[in-house]
Amino acid sequence: MDYEQIKNRLSPCGLDCSKCYAFDGGDIKKHSEQLKVALGNFDVYAERFTELLHGDIFRKYPDFKAMLAHFASAECQGCRKEHCKLFRDCKVRDCHEEKGVDFCFQCHEFPCKHTGFDEHLQQRSVHNNKRMKAIGVEGYYHEVRDKQRY
Ligand code: SF4
Ligand code: SF4
Repeated sequence: MDYEQIKNRLSPCGLDCSKCYAFDGGDIKKHSEQLKVALGNFDVYAERFTELLHGDIFRKYPDFKAMLAHFASAECQGCRKEHCKLFRDCKVRDCHEEKGVDFCFQCHEFPCKHTGFDEHLQQRSVHNNKRMKAIGVEGYYHEVRDKQRY
C-alpha cells in the first residue's frame, strides 16, 4: 500500500477510519451484515430458547439485534471525505487542509491545543502523530494495521 492509499485510511489525527464502527467499508460493518444474514429469523428462536432453556440471556436478543443493525448500517466515507460522525467537535479535519498538511505532525504548530478533542483523544492523537514522525507514515501504518481500534 503506497502513501496515498494509507493516507485515505488514516485520518490527520492518526486514527484508522477503516476500523471505525461507523465506516462504510470497514470490517465491523462487513461482519455485522454477515451475522445478520446468518442469524436469519432468530427472533422467534430467541423467544423459544428463553422458555426451553430457561435462558434469560435470550431475552436480550432484541437489544443485540438493534446494535447489530446499527453496525451494519454504517455509512461514513471516512475523515478524508466527510466530517467525522463521532467527534463532532473535531477541528483537525478543516485545520489540516488550511495548514496544507496531510497529518498533524507535518504542521509547524504540532502538538497544538486547538484540535477540539477531549483529553483522551488528544493524547491518542499526539501519540499517533509522534509515532508517524518517528518512523514515517508507512512504518506507522504497518505497525497499527493489524491492531484493533477499540
Ligand atoms: S470520519 Fe469519524 S466516523 Fe467516519 S470513519 Fe473516520 S473516525 Fe469513523
Ligand atoms: S494546527 Fe493543530 S490541528 Fe491544525 S494541523 Fe496543526 S497540529 Fe493539526
